[in-house]
Amino acid sequence: MKISNQFDRIDDELYLKNVRLDGYNVRGGLIMGSDRAVIFDTLSRPEDMLGYKELIEDRKLMIIYSHADWDHIWGTAGVETQPKLIISHKNSLKRFSTDVPEVLKDFQKRQPELYGSVKLIAPNITIESELVIDLGGITVQLSPLLGHTQDSIVAYIPEKGILLAGDAVETPFPCLGERSPVANWIEKLEGWRENSDLKTIIPAHGDISGPEILTQNINYLKAILNGEDADLPENMSEFYKEAHRDNVKFARKQGK
Ligand SMILES: [Zn+2]
Repeated sequence: MKISNQFDRIDDELYLKNVRLDGYNVRGGLIMGSDRAVIFDTLSRPEDMLGYKELIEDRKLMIIYSHADWDHIWGTAGVETQPKLIISHKNSLKRFSTDVPEVLKDFQKRQPELYGSVKLIAPNITIESELVIDLGGITVQLSPLLGHTQDSIVAYIPEKGILLAGDAVETPFPCLGERSPVANWIEKLEGWRENSDLKTIIPAHGDISGPEILTQNINYLKAILNGEDADLPENMSEFYKEAHRDNVKFARKQGK
């Protein structure tokens, strides 16, 4: 088992960690002000949280779940600094008694060596609208962005013009669930596109990009919602070939 302990340091206040999963990567963030620190997604296994404590030092810690999909929240038990708050969208909470434990049970049965140490830790604060958190010299602005899931939120750092987008933005394209509210998703992404201070978008899966990724994702979502051909990259991995087929299927079910 390979344990990745490597962070990408953006600057003194923002670190990213990328973990390899089966066929794709997942990325989480650590945002640090002078008083408080925020872990944005705890990745997939407790081992993924090694190294955070040394960076956080004596700051008060908050954890934010971009949404309750397994690859973003299963590392929480490995966080060595006691979090004051674990924040998610309100709709995440019920998932902790429905699909989240079911998925974990399945993974632990099939791959106990990888997922045996995972413990589910539910949020203790939930939001349904914007929440601004002052970390000391740097701000994190949480906003719901329902689309990929019904419990997705994104984190904007206005001082840097950086958006941590979770799975609301993705390259080569975003992934739908069976009941993704695609029309709302497009509308919210269009709203973010109007923010001229937004310079950098950091998705959980795929490439860190400029605002052009918003237009690319919007165009993709509109195309599949309207039953048109979407622009796809030439050499897609098996993972994304299958994801695209699922996206088309889920979008078709929604109609127009
Ligand atoms: Zn994901």
